[in-house]
Amino acid sequence: MIKVVKFGGSSLASADQFMKVGSIIRADEARRYVVPSAPGKRFSDDTKVTDMLYHCYDLAERGQAFTKQLNQIKDRYNEIIRGLKLDLSLEEDFETIKKQFISKAGSMYAASRGEYLNGKIIAKYLGYEFVDAANAIRFHKDGSFDADTTNKLLAERLENIERAVIPGFYGSMANGTVVTFSRGGSDITGSLVARAVNANLYENWTDVSGFLVADPRVVKNPEIIHTITYKELRELAYMGASVLHEDAIFPVRQAGIPINIRNTNAPDEDGTMIVESTCRIPAYTITGIAGKKGFVAVNIEKEMMNSEVGFGRKVLGAFEDNGISFEHMPSGIDTMTIFVHQDEFAEKEQQVIADINKATHPDSIELESDLALIAVVGRGMRSTRGTAGRLFSALAHAHINVKMIDQGSSELNIIIGVDNEDFNDAIHAIYDMFVVSQL
Ligand code: ASP
Repeated sequence: MIKVVKFGGSSLASADQFMKVGSIIRADEARRYVVPSAPGKRFSDDTKVTDMLYHCYDLAERGQAFTKQLNQIKDRYNEIIRGLKLDLSLEEDFETIKKQFISKAGSMYAASRGEYLNGKIIAKYLGYEFVDAANAIRFHKDGSFDADTTNKLLAERLENIERAVIPGFYGSMANGTVVTFSRGGSDITGSLVARAVNANLYENWTDVSGFLVADPRVVKNPEIIHTITYKELRELAYMGASVLHEDAIFPVRQAGIPINIRNTNAPDEDGTMIVESTCRIPAYTITGIAGKKGFVAVNIEKEMMNSEVGFGRKVLGAFEDNGISFEHMPSGIDTMTIFVHQDEFAEKEQQVIADINKATHPDSIELESDLALIAVVGRGMRSTRGTAGRLFSALAHAHINVKMIDQGSSELNIIIGVDNEDFNDAIHAIYDMFVVSQL
Protein backbone atom coordinates (compact mmCIF):
# COMPACT_ATOMS: atom_id res chain seq x y z
CA MET A 1 0.00 0.00 0.00
CA ILE A 2 1.41 3.39 -1.00
CA LYS A 3 -0.08 6.72 0.01
CA VAL A 4 1.10 10.10 -1.22
CA VAL A 5 0.39 12.81 1.32
CA LYS A 6 0.31 16.48 0.43
CA PHE A 7 0.17 19.09 3.18
CA GLY A 8 -1.06 22.62 2.55
CA GLY A 9 0.51 25.83 3.82
CA SER A 10 -1.55 26.20 6.99
CA SER A 11 -0.66 22.60 7.94
CA LEU A 12 3.02 23.62 7.85
CA ALA A 13 2.87 27.19 9.09
CA SER A 14 4.62 26.65 12.44
CA ALA A 15 6.56 24.08 14.47
CA ASP A 16 3.32 23.06 16.22
CA GLN A 17 1.69 22.36 12.89
CA PHE A 18 4.77 20.39 11.74
CA MET A 19 4.41 18.19 14.81
CA LYS A 20 0.81 17.37 13.91
CA VAL A 21 1.97 16.54 10.39
CA GLY A 22 4.75 14.34 11.78
CA SER A 23 2.33 12.30 13.86
CA ILE A 24 -0.07 11.90 10.96
CA ILE A 25 2.72 10.55 8.75
CA ARG A 26 4.14 8.26 11.41
CA ALA A 27 0.70 6.86 12.19
CA ASP A 28 0.57 5.06 8.85
CA GLU A 29 3.48 3.12 7.27
CA ALA A 30 1.91 3.58 3.84
CA ARG A 31 2.46 7.35 3.91
CA ARG A 32 5.74 7.12 2.02
CA TYR A 33 5.82 10.17 -0.22
CA VAL A 34 5.29 13.63 1.21
CA VAL A 35 4.57 16.78 -0.80
CA PRO A 36 4.72 20.00 1.26
CA SER A 37 3.54 23.53 0.48
CA ALA A 38 5.40 26.60 1.74
CA PRO A 39 4.52 27.82 5.26
CA GLY A 40 1.11 29.49 5.15
CA LYS A 41 -0.69 31.77 7.56
CA ARG A 42 -0.34 31.14 11.31
CA PHE A 43 -3.24 33.49 12.11
CA SER A 44 -5.79 35.25 9.95
CA ASP A 45 -3.84 38.42 9.10
CA ASP A 46 -0.47 36.69 8.83
CA THR A 47 1.36 36.60 5.46
CA LYS A 48 2.10 33.41 3.52
CA VAL A 49 5.81 32.82 2.88
CA THR A 50 5.07 32.57 -0.87
CA ASP A 51 3.65 36.12 -0.81
CA MET A 52 6.66 37.32 1.20
CA LEU A 53 8.95 35.83 -1.44
CA TYR A 54 7.09 37.47 -4.33
CA HIS A 55 7.30 40.81 -2.53
CA CYS A 56 10.97 40.41 -1.68
CA TYR A 57 11.86 39.48 -5.24
CA ASP A 58 9.90 42.42 -6.55
CA LEU A 59 12.15 44.71 -4.53
CA ALA A 60 15.27 42.93 -5.80
CA GLU A 61 14.08 43.22 -9.38
CA ARG A 62 13.54 46.96 -9.01
CA GLY A 63 17.06 47.27 -7.65
CA GLN A 64 15.88 48.16 -4.13
CA ALA A 65 17.20 46.83 -0.82
CA PHE A 66 15.60 43.50 0.11
CA THR A 67 17.84 42.10 2.88
CA LYS A 68 15.40 43.00 5.65
CA GLN A 69 12.53 41.24 3.88
CA LEU A 70 14.66 38.19 3.12
CA ASN A 71 15.70 38.01 6.77
CA GLN A 72 12.04 38.02 7.81
CA ILE A 73 11.52 34.97 5.62
CA LYS A 74 14.60 33.33 7.11
CA ASP A 75 13.15 34.00 10.58
CA ARG A 76 9.96 32.17 9.67
CA TYR A 77 11.97 29.06 8.80
CA ASN A 78 14.38 29.34 11.71
CA GLU A 79 11.47 29.57 14.13
CA ILE A 80 10.19 26.26 12.78
CA ILE A 81 13.65 24.65 12.91
CA ARG A 82 14.13 25.80 16.53
CA GLY A 83 10.64 24.66 17.52
CA LEU A 84 11.38 21.20 16.15
CA LYS A 85 14.85 21.16 17.74
CA LEU A 86 16.45 20.19 14.42
CA ASP A 87 20.15 20.24 13.72
CA LEU A 88 19.74 22.06 10.42
CA SER A 89 21.01 25.33 9.00
CA LEU A 90 19.56 27.04 5.94
CA GLU A 91 22.31 29.73 5.92
CA GLU A 92 23.92 28.45 2.72
CA ASP A 93 20.57 28.18 0.98
CA PHE A 94 19.75 31.76 1.90
CA GLU A 95 23.12 32.92 0.59
CA THR A 96 22.37 31.24 -2.75
CA ILE A 97 18.86 32.73 -2.82
CA LYS A 98 20.27 36.19 -2.17
CA LYS A 99 22.73 35.85 -5.05
CA GLN A 100 20.03 34.55 -7.35
CA PHE A 101 17.77 37.46 -6.44
CA ILE A 102 20.55 39.93 -7.25
CA SER A 103 21.16 38.26 -10.60
CA LYS A 104 17.37 38.39 -11.24
CA ALA A 105 16.64 34.66 -11.44
CA GLY A 106 12.92 35.32 -11.91
CA SER A 107 9.83 35.53 -9.72
CA MET A 108 9.00 31.87 -10.30
CA TYR A 109 12.38 30.86 -8.93
CA ALA A 110 11.75 33.17 -5.97
CA ALA A 111 8.31 31.76 -5.18
CA SER A 112 9.53 28.16 -5.51
CA ARG A 113 11.99 28.61 -2.64
CA GLY A 114 9.06 28.54 -0.20
CA GLU A 115 8.37 24.89 -0.95
CA TYR A 116 12.03 24.03 -1.51
CA LEU A 117 13.10 25.15 1.97
CA ASN A 118 10.04 23.71 3.68
CA GLY A 119 10.76 20.42 1.94
CA LYS A 120 14.27 20.38 3.36
CA ILE A 121 12.96 20.93 6.87
CA ILE A 122 10.30 18.28 6.73
CA ALA A 123 12.69 15.76 5.14
CA LYS A 124 15.10 16.29 8.03
CA TYR A 125 12.30 16.13 10.59
CA LEU A 126 10.94 12.84 9.23
CA GLY A 127 14.27 11.29 8.23
CA TYR A 128 12.99 10.98 4.61
CA GLU A 129 15.11 11.61 1.51
CA PHE A 130 14.77 15.08 -0.05
CA VAL A 131 14.10 15.02 -3.80
CA ASP A 132 14.33 18.42 -5.48
CA ALA A 133 11.28 18.85 -7.73
CA ALA A 134 13.47 20.78 -10.20
CA ASN A 135 15.01 17.44 -11.19
CA ALA A 136 11.78 15.55 -11.58
CA ILE A 137 8.95 17.88 -12.65
CA ARG A 138 9.51 19.09 -16.20
CA PHE A 139 8.22 22.09 -18.14
CA HIS A 140 8.57 22.73 -21.88
CA LYS A 141 10.67 25.61 -23.24
CA ASP A 142 7.54 27.74 -23.64
CA GLY A 143 6.72 27.28 -19.94
CA SER A 144 3.87 24.79 -20.42
CA PHE A 145 3.83 21.63 -18.35
CA ASP A 146 5.40 18.47 -19.84
CA ALA A 147 3.30 15.63 -18.42
CA ASP A 148 4.98 12.70 -20.18
CA THR A 149 8.58 13.57 -19.30
CA THR A 150 7.54 14.39 -15.74
CA ASN A 151 5.87 11.04 -15.25
CA LYS A 152 8.98 9.25 -16.54
CA LEU A 153 11.44 11.32 -14.50
CA LEU A 154 9.43 11.11 -11.29
CA ALA A 155 8.86 7.37 -11.62
CA GLU A 156 12.57 6.73 -12.25
CA ARG A 157 13.69 9.02 -9.45
CA LEU A 158 11.35 7.56 -6.85
CA GLU A 159 11.57 3.92 -7.92
CA ASN A 160 14.26 2.98 -5.44
CA ILE A 161 13.47 5.45 -2.69
CA GLU A 162 11.42 3.99 0.09
CA ARG A 163 10.40 7.32 1.64
CA ALA A 164 10.83 10.78 0.14
CA VAL A 165 9.83 14.43 0.39
CA ILE A 166 9.16 16.17 -2.94
CA PRO A 167 8.41 19.90 -2.57
CA GLY A 168 5.23 21.07 -4.27
CA PHE A 169 4.45 23.90 -6.70
CA TYR A 170 7.51 23.92 -8.98
CA GLY A 171 9.69 22.10 -11.45
CA SER A 172 12.08 23.21 -14.15
CA MET A 173 12.74 23.34 -17.85
CA ALA A 174 15.44 21.03 -19.26
CA ASN A 175 17.94 23.93 -19.04
CA GLY A 176 17.34 24.23 -15.28
CA THR A 177 15.12 27.36 -15.31
CA VAL A 178 12.67 26.99 -12.45
CA VAL A 179 8.96 27.20 -13.34
CA THR A 180 5.99 27.16 -10.97
CA PHE A 181 2.42 26.03 -11.46
CA SER A 182 -0.31 28.60 -10.80
CA ARG A 183 -1.10 29.51 -7.18
CA GLY A 184 -2.13 26.56 -5.05
CA GLY A 185 -0.15 24.30 -7.40
CA SER A 186 1.31 21.99 -4.75
CA ASP A 187 -1.93 20.04 -5.14
CA ILE A 188 -0.83 19.29 -8.70
CA THR A 189 2.60 18.05 -7.58
CA GLY A 190 0.90 15.68 -5.12
CA SER A 191 -1.25 14.31 -7.88
CA LEU A 192 1.72 13.84 -10.22
CA VAL A 193 3.72 12.02 -7.56
CA ALA A 194 0.73 9.78 -6.78
CA ARG A 195 0.49 8.77 -10.42
CA ALA A 196 4.23 8.26 -10.85
CA VAL A 197 4.52 5.88 -7.87
CA ASN A 198 1.19 4.16 -8.62
CA ALA A 199 -0.16 5.14 -5.24
CA ASN A 200 -3.29 3.51 -3.85
CA LEU A 201 -4.45 6.81 -2.43
CA TYR A 202 -3.62 10.51 -2.70
CA GLU A 203 -4.26 12.18 0.66
CA ASN A 204 -4.56 15.95 0.48
CA TRP A 205 -4.28 17.39 4.00
CA THR A 206 -5.61 20.89 4.54
CA ASP A 207 -7.40 22.93 7.22
CA VAL A 208 -10.98 21.89 6.49
CA SER A 209 -12.56 18.48 6.98
CA GLY A 210 -13.37 18.05 3.30
CA PHE A 211 -15.75 19.44 0.76
CA LEU A 212 -18.83 20.99 2.25
CA VAL A 213 -22.35 20.66 0.90
CA ALA A 214 -22.59 24.47 0.69
CA ASP A 215 -20.31 27.46 1.08
CA PRO A 216 -19.78 28.08 4.84
CA ARG A 217 -19.86 31.84 4.17
CA VAL A 218 -23.50 31.39 3.14
CA VAL A 219 -24.70 28.44 5.25
CA LYS A 220 -23.49 28.13 8.83
CA ASN A 221 -21.71 24.83 9.57
CA PRO A 222 -22.75 22.97 6.45
CA GLU A 223 -22.52 19.18 6.35
CA ILE A 224 -19.40 17.53 4.93
CA ILE A 225 -19.60 15.58 1.68
CA HIS A 226 -18.29 12.07 2.45
CA THR A 227 -17.98 10.76 -1.09
CA ILE A 228 -18.05 12.74 -4.31
CA THR A 229 -17.35 11.66 -7.88
CA TYR A 230 -14.90 13.49 -10.13
CA LYS A 231 -17.77 14.61 -12.35
CA GLU A 232 -19.72 16.09 -9.45
CA LEU A 233 -16.59 17.78 -8.20
CA ARG A 234 -15.97 19.34 -11.58
CA GLU A 235 -19.49 20.82 -11.62
CA LEU A 236 -19.14 22.24 -8.12
CA ALA A 237 -15.59 23.50 -8.60
CA TYR A 238 -16.59 25.23 -11.81
CA MET A 239 -19.26 27.05 -9.89
CA GLY A 240 -16.80 28.30 -7.32
CA ALA A 241 -16.44 25.58 -4.65
CA SER A 242 -12.70 25.36 -4.09
CA VAL A 243 -10.53 23.19 -1.89
CA LEU A 244 -8.32 21.60 -4.49
CA HIS A 245 -6.48 23.03 -7.51
CA GLU A 246 -8.49 22.09 -10.59
CA ASP A 247 -5.48 20.74 -12.48
CA ALA A 248 -4.76 18.31 -9.66
CA ILE A 249 -7.62 16.09 -10.71
CA PHE A 250 -6.52 14.93 -14.15
CA PRO A 251 -3.33 12.93 -13.33
CA VAL A 252 -4.87 10.83 -10.56
CA ARG A 253 -8.21 10.45 -12.28
CA GLN A 254 -6.47 9.09 -15.33
CA ALA A 255 -4.64 6.56 -13.17
CA GLY A 256 -7.74 5.60 -11.19
CA ILE A 257 -6.34 6.85 -7.87
CA PRO A 258 -8.87 8.29 -5.42
CA ILE A 259 -8.19 11.53 -3.55
CA ASN A 260 -8.96 11.89 0.13
CA ILE A 261 -9.28 15.46 1.46
CA ARG A 262 -8.33 15.44 5.17
CA ASN A 263 -7.97 17.96 7.98
CA THR A 264 -4.55 18.22 9.68
CA ASN A 265 -6.25 19.78 12.71
CA ALA A 266 -8.86 17.01 12.97
CA PRO A 267 -7.08 13.85 11.75
CA ASP A 268 -9.73 11.53 13.18
CA GLU A 269 -12.30 12.78 10.71
CA ASP A 270 -12.64 10.82 7.48
CA GLY A 271 -12.82 13.88 5.22
CA THR A 272 -14.05 13.64 1.65
CA MET A 273 -13.26 10.82 -0.76
CA ILE A 274 -13.13 11.84 -4.42
CA VAL A 275 -13.67 8.80 -6.64
CA GLU A 276 -14.38 7.93 -10.26
CA SER A 277 -17.61 6.15 -9.45
CA THR A 278 -19.25 4.74 -6.37
CA CYS A 279 -22.13 2.54 -5.39
CA ARG A 280 -22.39 4.42 -2.13
CA ILE A 281 -25.80 6.00 -1.84
CA PRO A 282 -25.30 9.67 -1.05
CA ALA A 283 -26.59 10.82 2.32
CA TYR A 284 -28.90 13.30 0.60
CA THR A 285 -30.40 13.49 -2.87
CA ILE A 286 -28.01 16.28 -3.65
CA THR A 287 -24.25 16.15 -3.15
CA GLY A 288 -23.55 19.86 -3.10
CA ILE A 289 -24.67 23.38 -3.96
CA ALA A 290 -22.40 26.07 -5.40
CA GLY A 291 -22.91 29.27 -7.28
CA LYS A 292 -21.53 32.49 -8.63
CA LYS A 293 -22.83 36.01 -8.92
CA GLY A 294 -22.28 38.52 -11.68
CA PHE A 295 -23.91 37.26 -14.87
CA VAL A 296 -25.80 39.02 -17.64
CA ALA A 297 -28.61 37.44 -19.65
CA VAL A 298 -28.74 38.57 -23.27
CA ASN A 299 -32.29 37.89 -24.46
CA ILE A 300 -32.78 37.79 -28.21
CA GLU A 301 -36.21 37.62 -29.82
CA LYS A 302 -37.17 37.13 -33.43
CA GLU A 303 -40.40 35.90 -34.91
CA MET A 304 -40.01 32.55 -36.67
CA MET A 305 -36.51 32.17 -35.19
CA ASN A 306 -37.10 28.46 -34.88
CA SER A 307 -37.25 27.94 -38.64
CA GLU A 308 -34.21 30.01 -39.48
CA VAL A 309 -31.34 27.60 -40.03
CA GLY A 310 -28.02 28.85 -38.59
CA PHE A 311 -29.57 31.47 -36.31
CA GLY A 312 -27.93 30.13 -33.17
CA ARG A 313 -24.54 29.83 -34.83
CA LYS A 314 -24.67 33.45 -35.97
CA VAL A 315 -25.58 34.68 -32.49
CA LEU A 316 -22.81 32.66 -30.85
CA GLY A 317 -20.41 33.86 -33.55
CA ALA A 318 -20.91 37.43 -32.34
CA PHE A 319 -19.74 36.38 -28.86
CA GLU A 320 -16.89 34.33 -30.22
CA ASP A 321 -15.64 37.13 -32.46
CA ASN A 322 -15.43 39.36 -29.40
CA GLY A 323 -13.61 36.75 -27.34
CA ILE A 324 -16.47 36.17 -24.88
CA SER A 325 -17.32 32.68 -23.69
CA PHE A 326 -20.89 31.91 -22.74
CA GLU A 327 -22.09 29.94 -19.74
CA HIS A 328 -25.60 28.80 -20.63
CA MET A 329 -28.00 29.09 -23.48
CA PRO A 330 -31.63 28.34 -22.65
CA SER A 331 -34.02 28.86 -25.57
CA GLY A 332 -37.71 29.14 -26.44
CA ILE A 333 -39.38 28.89 -29.85
CA ASP A 334 -38.70 32.46 -30.90
CA THR A 335 -36.31 33.46 -28.11
CA MET A 336 -32.79 32.63 -27.18
CA THR A 337 -30.92 33.69 -24.05
CA ILE A 338 -27.18 33.73 -23.62
CA PHE A 339 -25.69 33.92 -20.12
CA VAL A 340 -22.28 35.58 -19.94
CA HIS A 341 -19.97 36.89 -17.21
CA GLN A 342 -20.86 40.51 -16.52
CA ASP A 343 -17.30 41.77 -16.06
CA GLU A 344 -16.15 40.14 -19.31
CA PHE A 345 -19.19 41.31 -21.26
CA ALA A 346 -19.61 44.88 -19.97
CA GLU A 347 -16.77 46.46 -21.89
CA LYS A 348 -17.71 44.83 -25.18
CA GLU A 349 -21.50 44.85 -24.96
CA GLN A 350 -22.19 47.46 -27.66
CA GLN A 351 -19.91 45.71 -30.11
CA VAL A 352 -21.55 42.33 -29.43
CA ILE A 353 -25.05 43.77 -29.81
CA ALA A 354 -24.09 45.48 -33.04
CA ASP A 355 -22.66 42.22 -34.36
CA ILE A 356 -25.79 40.24 -33.40
CA ASN A 357 -27.97 42.87 -35.08
CA LYS A 358 -25.91 42.78 -38.22
CA ALA A 359 -25.82 38.99 -38.42
CA THR A 360 -29.39 38.09 -37.46
CA HIS A 361 -31.69 41.16 -37.61
CA PRO A 362 -33.63 40.23 -34.46
CA ASP A 363 -36.88 41.92 -33.32
CA SER A 364 -35.30 42.82 -29.98
CA ILE A 365 -32.23 42.33 -27.80
CA GLU A 366 -32.66 42.91 -24.09
CA LEU A 367 -30.04 42.76 -21.39
CA GLU A 368 -30.68 41.72 -17.82
CA SER A 369 -27.74 42.19 -15.46
CA ASP A 370 -26.80 41.31 -11.85
CA LEU A 371 -27.88 37.70 -12.07
CA ALA A 372 -26.49 34.72 -10.18
CA LEU A 373 -26.24 31.08 -11.23
CA ILE A 374 -26.60 28.30 -8.70
CA ALA A 375 -25.74 24.67 -9.44
CA VAL A 376 -27.45 21.93 -7.50
CA VAL A 377 -25.33 18.86 -8.10
CA GLY A 378 -25.84 15.22 -7.22
CA ARG A 379 -25.56 11.75 -8.72
CA GLY A 380 -28.53 10.86 -6.52
CA MET A 381 -30.86 13.03 -8.61
CA ARG A 382 -30.89 10.54 -11.47
CA SER A 383 -32.65 7.89 -9.44
CA THR A 384 -34.86 10.13 -7.34
CA ARG A 385 -38.20 11.34 -8.52
CA GLY A 386 -39.46 14.81 -7.72
CA THR A 387 -36.12 16.54 -7.16
CA ALA A 388 -36.95 19.45 -9.45
CA GLY A 389 -40.38 19.76 -7.82
CA ARG A 390 -38.86 19.97 -4.36
CA LEU A 391 -36.23 22.42 -5.53
CA PHE A 392 -38.72 24.84 -7.03
CA SER A 393 -41.19 24.58 -4.20
CA ALA A 394 -38.34 25.43 -1.78
CA LEU A 395 -37.52 28.50 -3.85
CA ALA A 396 -41.18 29.49 -4.19
CA HIS A 397 -41.66 29.29 -0.42
CA ALA A 398 -38.67 31.58 0.01
CA HIS A 399 -40.27 34.03 -2.48
CA ILE A 400 -37.43 33.69 -4.94
CA ASN A 401 -38.07 34.37 -8.57
CA VAL A 402 -36.33 31.81 -10.78
CA LYS A 403 -35.11 33.43 -13.99
CA MET A 404 -33.62 30.41 -15.71
CA ILE A 405 -33.59 26.65 -15.37
CA ASP A 406 -31.14 24.32 -17.05
CA GLN A 407 -30.93 20.63 -16.32
CA GLY A 408 -27.87 18.98 -17.84
CA SER A 409 -28.59 15.86 -19.87
CA SER A 410 -26.45 13.87 -17.45
CA GLU A 411 -29.11 14.56 -14.79
CA LEU A 412 -26.19 15.32 -12.53
CA ASN A 413 -27.07 18.95 -12.02
CA ILE A 414 -29.81 21.53 -12.19
CA ILE A 415 -28.68 25.08 -12.73
CA ILE A 416 -30.93 27.96 -11.84
CA GLY A 417 -30.57 31.67 -12.45
CA VAL A 418 -31.76 34.16 -9.82
CA ASP A 419 -31.16 37.83 -9.02
CA ASN A 420 -27.80 38.48 -7.34
CA GLU A 421 -29.63 39.74 -4.27
CA ASP A 422 -31.55 36.45 -3.92
CA PHE A 423 -28.35 34.39 -4.06
CA ASN A 424 -27.88 33.68 -0.34
CA ASP A 425 -31.59 33.12 0.33
CA ALA A 426 -31.82 30.71 -2.58
CA ILE A 427 -28.87 28.62 -1.34
CA HIS A 428 -30.35 28.57 2.17
CA ALA A 429 -33.72 27.45 0.85
CA ILE A 430 -32.17 24.63 -1.19
CA TYR A 431 -29.94 23.53 1.69
CA ASP A 432 -32.87 23.50 4.10
CA MET A 433 -35.02 21.48 1.74
CA PHE A 434 -32.48 18.81 0.82
CA VAL A 435 -30.22 18.63 3.87
CA VAL A 436 -31.69 20.14 7.04
CA SER A 437 -35.11 18.58 6.55
CA GLN A 438 -33.44 15.16 6.00
CA LEU A 439 -31.29 15.21 9.14
N1 ASP B 1 2.79 28.09 -1.95
C1 ASP B 1 2.08 28.21 -3.19
C2 ASP B 1 0.94 29.20 -3.04
O1 ASP B 1 0.83 29.87 -2.03
C3 ASP B 1 1.61 26.89 -3.71
C4 ASP B 1 0.74 26.08 -2.79
O2 ASP B 1 0.63 26.37 -1.60
O3 ASP B 1 0.13 25.11 -3.26
O4 ASP B 1 0.18 29.37 -3.96
